[in-house]
Amino acid sequence: MYRSKDRGGNCSTIFDGAMIHDVSDRLEIEHHLRTALSNNELRVFYQPEVSIPTNRITGFEALLRWNSPALGDIPVQQVIEIAEATGLIVPIGKWVLKQACQFIQRVHELGYEDLTVSVNVSMVQLTRSEFAQTVSKILQETGLNPKYLRLEITESVFMESYEFIRSELEDLYDIGVHMALDDFGKGYSSLAYLKFLPIHTLKIDKSFIDDIVQENKERLLTDQIISIGEKLGLHVVAEGVERDEQLEYLVHHQCDRHQGFIF
Ligand code: MG
Repeated sequence: MYRSKDRGGNCSTIFDGAMIHDVSDRLEIEHHLRTALSNNELRVFYQPEVSIPTNRITGFEALLRWNSPALGDIPVQQVIEIAEATGLIVPIGKWVLKQACQFIQRVHELGYEDLTVSVNVSMVQLTRSEFAQTVSKILQETGLNPKYLRLEITESVFMESYEFIRSELEDLYDIGVHMALDDFGKGYSSLAYLKFLPIHTLKIDKSFIDDIVQENKERLLTDQIISIGEKLGLHVVAEGVERDEQLEYLVHHQCDRHQGFIF
């Protein structure tokens, strides 16, 4: 059934022996994921985002990690896929959001008052009703000023049910929460979204940055994304910066911010 759904649905798939491993692995992960939150096995790590002109940290992105005592480290992409398929993404996403808001409050209390925290949001969270309400409630409980919270949404998410989530995002925008278009340039890019949606930040997908030094095409596209962002008055963050040459390129081309293992 899952294989058929992965192929777009409305088709049949003949079972073969090798699939049993995939299915049983998946079921095992799902089984343990159901208790991971209550067993306190999930962690949030914070990756700094750095201003290129000042070389100072401007904020952090909250990244979920799961080290299962039974299964070891599970790749985050797999965790998210299973959490989305089972609906566990809703409680887990809510927990991450609250952790992130509490974290940045503590950072502010230490005297770093301007730093923001970014949290990735899944389509499943957005389409379940009352997402905006959940966010407002967490902001109230933690006392965080909404302008220090940024929600990162991928373009593929938008394509699926743009009209449906638009009002949800506008509610959040109205209370002052910031929005970022994540993995920009990858997948279903549509420049029209930049016009219609309440976005503050563009995050250039890592795949552009990976080849920025060698590939002329990547350079050209990255330059254009930086320029579009600048003209629209958005922050532009280059994701996945790992090497000095990549950073040098971004400095030279006046990109706004960067994020990745280099820092
Ligand atoms: Mg992100």
